[in-house]
Amino acid sequence: MSQQEFLNSVQHFIETATSHLDLPDGLAERIAQCNSTYSVRFGVKLRGRIHSFQGWRSVHSEHIEPVKGGIRYAPDSDQEEVEALASLMSLKCALVNVPFGGSKGGLAIDPNAWTEDELEKITRRFTQELARRDLINPGRNVPAPDMGTGEREMAWMADEYRRIGSSDAMNQNACVTGKPVARGGIAGRVEATGRGLQYALQSYLSHPDTAPVAGQKTPKGLTVVVQGFGNVGYHAAKFLEQDGAKIVGIVEHDCAIFNTDGLDVEAVAAHRTESGSVANFPGAETVPSEQGLTYMAADILIPAAKENAITLENCNDVNYSLIVEAANGPVTADAEECLTKRGIVVLPDLYVNAGGVVVSYFEWVKNITHLPFGLMDRRQNIRAGTAVVNALEEIAGRPLQEPQRTQISRDAREIDVVRSGLEEIMVQA
Ligand code: GLU
Repeated sequence: MSQQEFLNSVQHFIETATSHLDLPDGLAERIAQCNSTYSVRFGVKLRGRIHSFQGWRSVHSEHIEPVKGGIRYAPDSDQEEVEALASLMSLKCALVNVPFGGSKGGLAIDPNAWTEDELEKITRRFTQELARRDLINPGRNVPAPDMGTGEREMAWMADEYRRIGSSDAMNQNACVTGKPVARGGIAGRVEATGRGLQYALQSYLSHPDTAPVAGQKTPKGLTVVVQGFGNVGYHAAKFLEQDGAKIVGIVEHDCAIFNTDGLDVEAVAAHRTESGSVANFPGAETVPSEQGLTYMAADILIPAAKENAITLENCNDVNYSLIVEAANGPVTADAEECLTKRGIVVLPDLYVNAGGVVVSYFEWVKNITHLPFGLMDRRQNIRAGTAVVNALEEIAGRPLQEPQRTQISRDAREIDVVRSGLEEIMVQA
């Protein structure tokens, strides 16, 4: 399925939603379109010749600035995909009441085809192009990680932004979020999207108006298939496992693994790190990726890979009670209609995966205020920090040494504040 269909699908969702509102003539069509999209081609000299790359940064709406959204590195990234994703960002931020407009970026690149040094060169060059047009700027447009990017890329971008001196020195750190903690990031950002999904699911299941799933009002005992074992899928699986759910399947791009007795998430991650794939995980059945979504019936499916995972082609063959959209746009508009007719509930991406941008907001606020996070709530935070240090000392059976002790205590305070803030927002939304 082409990315044009993804954009059509998002626009269709927006049109359906706005048809319930009494908007002035023409406004609904305006909302369905992105305000602007910058497309750039640039060359980087690598391996003895110039290689060309194409990238985009789209702004869906700057009704609130800065606009916000990740930058994706993927071989099939294109303008339509980036526009669809930018539109979702405006709606996502509005839903969880985070004061940002919507934007998104993409670079058509296979990150696995390049070495770390090469990726750094490419990322720094892309940053220069975006900064030149204020498409990276602490007060106007603040990128973040997305598929194919993470803390490392954000650290390069922030460093390049600072190096070219594009904005006032005081606020440069706020030019991107998702940075490593030691470079102005915030504790809890890496796992934030998975954590948000955990809160979103808990809150859906426990709601008085929600029908129980397999007789359950909590995730305990529910069977789960996760598609995509990247940052979002891995953390979602790990947190649901901690809540007592049973992860019975993991569907990856190269194969899928199943075990009706449950897969140990940490052990699968370790196996993948060691062997490069989840394939042949001990005790599990390995099947081709294409069969992954339809191979087994389970209570919950978590599509955490890409858009268009469930389309008209496979929507009649999937057997779950609940689909929790961790990726952006994994269920197309027409597939959602088909699932709804079959009585399958879809928890929407805008809500389910908003944890990432919520914690990005905390990071940005921390950067622009220059307040170590949680300093305002000092007493509560000191208690949280001390509790973690005490627990670690008990486990280790000896006192922690400085400067580790102070560092751990400080990080623990921060993570506690961020986590309770995230929970409050996800449950209210
Ligand atoms: N890329 C993430 C998303 O799709 C996070 C965006 C952000 O933190 O700004 O929501």
